[in-house]
Amino acid sequence: MKKVERTVSSLKAFLEQEANYGISEYFFPEDLLNHTLDKTRFFSSLEEKLRTCKKCRLYKDAHKAVVGEGSLEAELMFVGEGPGREEDSQGRPFVGRAGKLLTKIIEAMGYKREEVYIANVVKHRPPENRNPNPDEIKACMPYLLLQIKLIKPKVICTLGKWATKTLVGNEEATISQLRGKFQPFTIIDISPAIKIMPTYHPAYLLRNPAAKKEVWSDMKKIMQYLKKP
Ligand code: SF4
Repeated sequence: MKKVERTVSSLKAFLEQEANYGISEYFFPEDLLNHTLDKTRFFSSLEEKLRTCKKCRLYKDAHKAVVGEGSLEAELMFVGEGPGREEDSQGRPFVGRAGKLLTKIIEAMGYKREEVYIANVVKHRPPENRNPNPDEIKACMPYLLLQIKLIKPKVICTLGKWATKTLVGNEEATISQLRGKFQPFTIIDISPAIKIMPTYHPAYLLRNPAAKKEVWSDMKKIMQYLKKP
């Protein structure tokens, strides 16, 4: 009985905390509630759920939902703003030109792409690659928060302005002010604490190769924190 009370009380605290953030709708698969969670099964049921999600208008013009991919035990997670054309057609995150550059960065850090986890704030492609609107971000956020809660990375590297604004929660500061400095992840209460390292989006690096130096300096800070040789 005590176990049930503890579960209900921690679930209540979690929901209250996220209601403060404006999140009121959740997807909880049966096995999550029953404490028999198998992460792989959870992620495949999440994928099924996303394929039929109509919580915001973005599903209308998109071909495929892009859930995310990589290790469910990753210590490092990358989060971009949303899928582009190539990602939309393949249903995989960061597989276009910007994605190839991200893969090079990951490998230069000493990881294989499949050892980190890569996701986006919104799971369906915004039409014409426009920025996601605040109501679309709000609708999709519970999915990303569940991914973070289950993977529990040590560091989340936010790629670009939108992912950074969403996960750092600082509306005023620009990406160039925030990048290169670890920020706390405070949207959900999670232990051990997760640090966020904001950096430029790889698509920006394709347009401004000179900024690669700054991104590499941000990656070196992550490697140092994660004790990656
Ligand atoms: S972007 Fe997110 S909230 Fe909107 S329809 Fe797709 S999965 Fe649902």
